[in-house]
Amino acid sequence: MNISRTSFPRVVIIGGGFSGIALAKKLSKQEVQVVLLDKNNYHNFQPLLYQVSTGGLEPDSIAYPIRKILKDFPNFSFRLAKVNEIDSVNNLVKTDIGELKFDYLVVASGSKTNYFGNSEIEKYSMAMKTIPQSLNLRSLILENFEEALLTSDLNERNALMNFVIVGGGPTGVELAGALAEIKKGILPKDYPDLDTRLAQIHIIQSSDCILKGMSDKASAKAEDFLEKLGVNIWKNVRVTNYDGKTVTTNTDLTFETATLVWAAGVKGATIKGLEAEELITRGNRLLVNEFNQVKGYNHIFAIGDIASMITDEFPNGFPMMAQPAIQQGSQLGDNILKLIEQKPMVPFVYKDKGVMATIGRNKAVVDLPKFKFQGVFAWYVWMFVHLFFLIGFRNRMVVFINWVYNYVRFDREARLIIRPFKKKLNTK
Ligand SMILES: Cc1cc2nc3c(=O)[nH]c(=O)nc-3n(C[C@H](O)[C@H](O)[C@H](O)COP(=O)(O)OP(=O)(O)OC[C@H]3O[C@@H](n4cnc5c(N)ncnc54)[C@H](O)[C@@H]3O)c2cc1C
Repeated sequence: MNISRTSFPRVVIIGGGFSGIALAKKLSKQEVQVVLLDKNNYHNFQPLLYQVSTGGLEPDSIAYPIRKILKDFPNFSFRLAKVNEIDSVNNLVKTDIGELKFDYLVVASGSKTNYFGNSEIEKYSMAMKTIPQSLNLRSLILENFEEALLTSDLNERNALMNFVIVGGGPTGVELAGALAEIKKGILPKDYPDLDTRLAQIHIIQSSDCILKGMSDKASAKAEDFLEKLGVNIWKNVRVTNYDGKTVTTNTDLTFETATLVWAAGVKGATIKGLEAEELITRGNRLLVNEFNQVKGYNHIFAIGDIASMITDEFPNGFPMMAQPAIQQGSQLGDNILKLIEQKPMVPFVYKDKGVMATIGRNKAVVDLPKFKFQGVFAWYVWMFVHLFFLIGFRNRMVVFINWVYNYVRFDREARLIIRPFKKKLNTK
């Protein structure tokens, strides 16, 4: 890997997401050698992926080069590498570009889409966890409209303009709201020859409410916002299969659609070598103690989505969100330094800063620990918080200007099929 040993202990971090970057920033000016490995050379701001999928933002405004984030840190190295295996006996990570020894290892590999073992859904549905996936979805949505314009088969046209989103969490809600705004504001202008009223947006939610992790008020208000935008919400319905054409459910309901977006859940992105049954807990996450040490190890840690720290308040671990990831990354930096200096580490305590989701123009719901509010002010708060946490001044400016432009012009200019998406065909 062309990384020489220095006199400092070496900390290897797998993953340059929210948690890995927070940790690297904390450690890289200290007397440790930090090596960050990521299969992408950029940090991906996942909360705004849905805006890439719906043409509201260009992908490069929500991604930032990892090397640039940490360019001023003297003890930091980055390698573009996919980690395939962790050898915890020999303190070695095995990657597609070679092997690397570590003194301390931090797994910050995040999560991946959970299809709950359904291979057909995995094959035919669209996920929205990465930038390439969001670009695929953007292309597919636009290709569908182009095809709908050409077909004379009414059933086919309906299926092409029918968008089914599985999962009524923030991702599903935000995507549905954005699609509804496209239907209202953009389709009639772009496709005057198409009866755009045919476009249908459905959210299918297995439980009895959307935004389940938020307050009842936020959930009810989001539902109200979405219904006013024309989104159909199907509660207490579980999707059982999708063969590329028909969505079947555990009820009599079926949906004919060319686009099923799977936003129904994620699971920890575990890595071979740290997958023993006793290490893994609910959600395929690595069980860690209050110092983020992986069960049974003193020098191997996990932070962010991949880590499950079980407390009385959070018996299933902290929510898989940016805040726990950032806070764990930052505190682990201090704790690794303490461990090296043989001082007692400080247990991690999660400071809940709240949850929010936007449904569209002037519509958001915000649950802060002490205040809960919805509507226009919530939407401004949502925008401010997302701009604040975006990495890079240029990205903040670009996103801000785009949002102002889209707001004033009722537009989404990135509706481009740059890289056509090839749909998988059902060959059964
Ligand atoms: C669509 C969407 C919307 C979201 N919206 C919100 C929101 O509004 N608010 C909120 O708080 N949270 C939101 N989240 C969740 C939030 O993004 C995650 O909780 C957060 O990113 C977790 O940070 P992390 O550091 O654990 O992992 P990530 O940020 O996912 O980073 C993991 C990194 O590890 C790398 N990696 C993984 N495996 C390997 C490997 N084997 N080798 C090398 N590199 C590897 C990946 O490339 C990635 O860079 C959203 C997530 C999604 C998908």
